[in-house]
Amino acid sequence: AKSRGRNNFQFFTRALNSVAEERLTLEAAMRVAIERDEFEVHYQPKLDHRRRIVGMEALARWFHPVLGDIRPDRFIPIAEECGLILPLTTCILRRAFAAARRWNQGRDQPLRLAVNLSPRLFLSRDIVAHVSGLLCDAGLPASQVELEVTETVFLGDDELAVGIFRAFKALGLSLAMDDFGTGYSSLSYLRRFPLDTIKIDRSLVVGIEQQDEMAMIARAVISLGQSLRKTVVAEGVENPAQFDFLRFQGCDEFQGYLFSRPLPEAGFARLLEAGG
Ligand code: C2E
Ligand code: CA
Ligand code: CA
Ligand code: CA
Repeated sequence: AKSRGRNNFQFFTRALNSVAEERLTLEAAMRVAIERDEFEVHYQPKLDHRRRIVGMEALARWFHPVLGDIRPDRFIPIAEECGLILPLTTCILRRAFAAARRWNQGRDQPLRLAVNLSPRLFLSRDIVAHVSGLLCDAGLPASQVELEVTETVFLGDDELAVGIFRAFKALGLSLAMDDFGTGYSSLSYLRRFPLDTIKIDRSLVVGIEQQDEMAMIARAVISLGQSLRKTVVAEGVENPAQFDFLRFQGCDEFQGYLFSRPLPEAGFARLLEAGG
């Protein structure tokens, strides 16, 4: 039993080492990619109930020449842990702000660009001036940008986070609660924080067309958002039955593979030309 324990231990440390090594490899590659501005941004349209494009979410992409495609679910946490989330986000915002500025030129109804901000960026007020500076550089009005933030932002210093939210609002940006319905904190932040939008997580959309319980939960969440006068966005809409249900319940905006996958810049531009 003792020797088996040791073997397990060796196996375990080897596995741990390879995980650690892989992280170090990714971290090093990330530094280089940030330096060379190699992160890309894909855009997924948000539509209103009449299927008109009203905005788009910027989603980070990393196509590494040797390591292959690395998903954001993978590299964002690493960036957060090794202190690279600010420079990485800066690359993403620069690209997305410039693209939105071009797409909105000469549109009577500007598209709203949504960008994801890691809760780690809400640890210092400096983030407000930083984002504001990037908007100025790009010539993009703050009113055309929405920040998507997840609930974990409330687990840190509440006062500080509320202050940062207010400062962003004062600049004219909109604020969205991302992945709504997946968290575990109390709902009291809905009252304390100046949120414009709640985005219903995909996990609450899956199955609404098949299971009564799922449908009732989604309905309750939508009506909560409505009574608080928030814009309610549903993400992960994959089929017409889900779209019809959510539309009928009064969701304001919709995002998902039913309408479009996230597209590279050129592809999204073509989508707009085709009728957005
Ligand atoms: P998220 O913000 O909840 O983004 C939605 C995710 O769902 C995206 O995955 C999107 O491609 C995917 N999606 C959209 N429609 C559908 C659908 O109909 N069905 C399914 N199955 N999936 C759908 P993606 O692009 O892999 O991003 C994953 C997560 O990585 C994002 O989740 C977000 O939390 C994070 N992320 C991406 N880009 C950034 C970024 O620039 N900064 C930060 N901080 N996080 C980012
Ligand atoms: Ca998001
Ligand atoms: Ca989301
Ligand atoms: Ca999500």
